[in-house]
Formats: sequence, C-alpha cells, structure tokens
Amino acid sequence: MQGWSRKTLSNQARHRIDWLRTMGFIKLENGFHFLSESGWNFVLQHPPELIAIQKHEINKQEKLITNSVLKPFKPFEVIEKTSSLRQAFARDRAFRIVVVSQYDYYCAVCNLKLPNPNGIYLAEAAHIIPKRNQGSDDPRNGICLCGNCHWAFDEGIISVKPEQLTIMTASYLKKTEPQETPQKYIKYNGKKLRNVIDNNYLPSKIALEWHNQEIFLG
Ligand SMILES: [Zn+2]
Repeated sequence: MQGWSRKTLSNQARHRIDWLRTMGFIKLENGFHFLSESGWNFVLQHPPELIAIQKHEINKQEKLITNSVLKPFKPFEVIEKTSSLRQAFARDRAFRIVVVSQYDYYCAVCNLKLPNPNGIYLAEAAHIIPKRNQGSDDPRNGICLCGNCHWAFDEGIISVKPEQLTIMTASYLKKTEPQETPQKYIKYNGKKLRNVIDNNYLPSKIALEWHNQEIFLG
C-alpha cells in the first residue's frame, strides 16, 4: 500500500486523516500514513462506488494519466496541496485501469490472467518508483503484475533491465532448496517482460534504473 505524507495535504484533508486515525483506519509509519488493517477491510467492504466516487471522477483522472504519456516522462510527483483524498482515490483507480489494460490484464512477469466470476481480474498496477518515494502516476511508471509478482517486485526480489526489458531475479534465490517456491522465480531470470499494447506505455528506463538501484536486491 502506498503511503502519503500529511504535510502535502490541505487542512481539511488533515482533519479527516486525524479523524480516520482515531477510528483506527490509518496508521503512521516512518512519517508516512498508511491504511491500517481495519482501513483495508473498510475499503474492501465499501468500494468507491459505494462511497460515491463517480465514474466521471475516475474518467477525468484517466484522461490526465493517459495524456501524460504524450509528454516527457516525469519520474516523481508530489501530491498537490489542493488534491483531496477523494481525488487521490480516483487517481489510483485510474492509474490501475490505464496500466493493466495495456497488458490486457496479464501479469507481465508470470503471465497469469485470472478473472473472478464478475469479470474482475487479479491484476495490479505496480508503481516502479513507489508512491512512498513520490513516484509519479505516469503510466510509464507502472507495470501490470499479479499480487505475488507485485510483492516480489516491491521487495526487490525481481526487477527489469531498462534496455532489454528482461526480468532479473535476486541472487539469494539460488541458495534456496530445489522444489521450493523461490526456485519458481529463478526461471524468470532473462525472460522478456510482457509487451504493452501501445509502445508509448512501455515502462520508463529512468524508473527501472531507479528501481534497480534503490529496491532490487541484486
Ligand atoms: Zn505474476
């Protein structure tokens, strides 16, 4: 889950965060705010449709995010003081829609594409430079991954070579026993990352270099 800093938010949003913290929905870690477990449960039980985030709000963010690929890549982005939590939520949803559709809902690493009976896919939009490091919502700062590969990417267990767009796996995996799950990841070493539908949305080399230096375990 992405963390955010209270400093960048408006007074009204700060009051709301304080209220949500007293409710136990938000926790504070290393100066950043995160959703707590009960916060997550609340969000899962009350998806944005139910808390009245309208489709047009997401569409508006989707347009902004889509337009950003026409401009030079911006790796970092500080949340504007004027942006509300509601806007951040809509933006998050829009980022996911734009990124996962470029990969047709396939995990770019393991190729998993799994829908539930309602047609909702197990596909996440991973930020290459994480939100907690002020990574931007430019779609080129995103890759579509399944939950497992997303976690492994965020933990630096897997990364991507910026030029070749091939997958790299952390060397510690080799020390694990044959037949164990980590061995499954070693076989992705050198495999080409799944391609995007429109090359304008290819993952940014700048972002991947940052990930390799700051997050990848090597
Ligand atoms: Zn995967």
